[in-house]
Amino acid sequence: MRPAGFGWIGWLLAGALLAAGGSLLIALRAYDEQRARFETDARIVHRVLSQRVVQHDAILATLALLQPALEGRDAPEQRLTALYPQVLRVLRRTGSEPWSGVTVAEAAALAAAETASRGAARPALGPVELPRGRYWLVRAAEPSSYALQIDLAALPPVGEGPVAAPAAAAVALAHGGQRFVLQPGRSADAADAADTAGGAAAPASAAGASAWLAGPRLAFAKALAAESQPFEVRVGERLPWAQWPWAWMLAWSVLSALAVGTAAAWLRQRAEQRRTRELLRLGQVSRLNAMGELAAGIAHELNQPLTAVVASTAAARRLLADEGTEALPQARDAMTQAAQQARRAADVLARLRRLVEPAGGSGGPQATVPLATLLEAALDLRQPELDRAAVRASVRCDPPDLRVSADAVALEQIVHNLIGNAAQALQQVPAAERRLELVAAAEGARGVVTVRDSGPGIAPEALPRLFEPFFTTREGGLGLGLSLCETLAGGMGGRLSGGNAPGGRGAVFRLELPRAGGSETADAAR
Ligand code: ADP
Repeated sequence: MRPAGFGWIGWLLAGALLAAGGSLLIALRAYDEQRARFETDARIVHRVLSQRVVQHDAILATLALLQPALEGRDAPEQRLTALYPQVLRVLRRTGSEPWSGVTVAEAAALAAAETASRGAARPALGPVELPRGRYWLVRAAEPSSYALQIDLAALPPVGEGPVAAPAAAAVALAHGGQRFVLQPGRSADAADAADTAGGAAAPASAAGASAWLAGPRLAFAKALAAESQPFEVRVGERLPWAQWPWAWMLAWSVLSALAVGTAAAWLRQRAEQRRTRELLRLGQVSRLNAMGELAAGIAHELNQPLTAVVASTAAARRLLADEGTEALPQARDAMTQAAQQARRAADVLARLRRLVEPAGGSGGPQATVPLATLLEAALDLRQPELDRAAVRASVRCDPPDLRVSADAVALEQIVHNLIGNAAQALQQVPAAERRLELVAAAEGARGVVTVRDSGPGIAPEALPRLFEPFFTTREGGLGLGLSLCETLAGGMGGRLSGGNAPGGRGAVFRLELPRAGGSETADAAR
C-alpha cells in the first residue's frame, strides 16, 4: 500500500532537479561574469584602436596646416615614417601633377579619395588592401595634398600600453568584406569568433557544432570611432569548458544530494516514529481491552460456583430451620456441595495467580515425576468428558519408566489443559473421527510429551498468537490456558510449542522437560 517505489523515485528526481537547477544558476552566473568582463575588455580594445587611427588624421591635419612653413625644405614629411612605425609612406601632390610613386590604378584611386576629402573637408580613405593590413589615407589641401600609407601590422600591439587586451581574445579590423587580424587570440576558434562577429557568413553547422564543443563564444563588433577610417573592430573569445566552475557545481550537487538524502531520511524516521507511537497506543488500548476481558472472564468463572455456594448454604439453612436435626444429612450434603464450589472458585483464582506470577518458577517444588503415571492420571480426570464426546484416547510411554524433573501439579495442569483444548477442538469433527494421542518419549536429556488430536487443527492466523494471553478463537474462551501452560513449562526449565500435525490432520502440542537422573546425556557425561 505504501508507495515506496514512487517515493524514492520522487526523492531522486527532487535531488536531481535541485542539483541541476543550482548548477545551472552557478554556470549562468559564471557566464554573466565572463560576458561582462569580455564586454569591458572589448570596449577598451575599441577605444585604444580608435585613438590610434585618429592619430593618422592628426598627422595629415598637421602636414596640411604646416605646409607653408615646410615649403622649400627637403621634404621633411618623409621623416614621419621614422617617428610612426605604422606610417609606411608619405606622398605629396601639388597643383595639377598626378600622384607619383604608385601604380596608375592606385594614383587614380588616390585622386578619387582626394576629391572626396575636399568635399568632406576631412581625410578620406584611399585604396584599401586589408588582407595585407595596408591602406591609404588622403587629405586634400592647398597648395599640396598629402597621402599616408598605413601598415596595420606595425601598429603597437593591442596588448601593449596601460590597458592590455586579454591575450585570449581575437581582435580584427574588417572593411568591405576584407579583414586583418591584429591579435589571433588563444585559439583558431577565437579568430573564428572575431571573424564571424560582424555578421560575416556563419560557419557550416558541423563546424558550428565542433566549435560549440570548444566552449560558448563571446563576440563584439563596432565601427572605429574615426570617420575617415570606417573599419569595424571585431573582438571574439571562447570560454573553454575546462574553465567553467565545475568544482562549485560538483560541490553544489553533492550538497543538494546530501540535503535531499537527509530530508528523506528525516521524514522516513518521523513516519517510523509515528507508526511506533501508534502501535504503542494500540497496544495500550488492547491491553486495556484485555484487562476488561479478564475482569469479565473472572466474573464469569466465579459467578457460577459462588451462585452454587449461595444456593447450597441457603438450602441447608432452610432445611435446618424447617426440619431441625432431622434434616442434618441433607444439610451436610448441601454444605459439602457448597465447599466443593468454593474450592472451584479458589482454583480459578489460583490459576489466575499463577499466570501473573513472575516467571522463573512454577510455584511448586521440583520432583521426579514418572510420565506414564502422570499421563494416565490426567486422562482419567478427563475421561467422563472424553467419553461423552466419543473421543478415543490412548497413552503411550517409551521407555515406560521415563521420568522428568518437574512440579507434578504444574505438569498435571499443563496436560489437563492440553487435553481440554483437544476435546474442544474435536467437537468440530464427526464423532467417528475423534482421536486423542498422548505420547511420552525420551529425546536425549529431555522427556517429551506430545498431545495430538485429529481435530480441525490450528487456524493459520492463530498459529503465531497461540501463547499470547487472552488470545482465543472460542466463543466464551478466556485465551489464558495456553499462555499459562507456557509460563508453567518455562518455570520448570521446559518448553511448550504447538502447531499442526505435519502431513496429518489436527493439532500437536509438544512439551519438553528435563529428564530426571540417569538420562543418556548424563550417563555419557560421566
Ligand atoms: P481458550 O481455551 O480460552 O481459547 P487457549 O489459550 O487454551 O484459550 O487457546 C487459545 C487458542 O488456541 C484457542 O482459542 C484455539 O484457537 C487454539 N487452540 C488451542 N488448542 C487447540 C487445538 N487442540 N486445536 C485447535 N486449536 C487450538
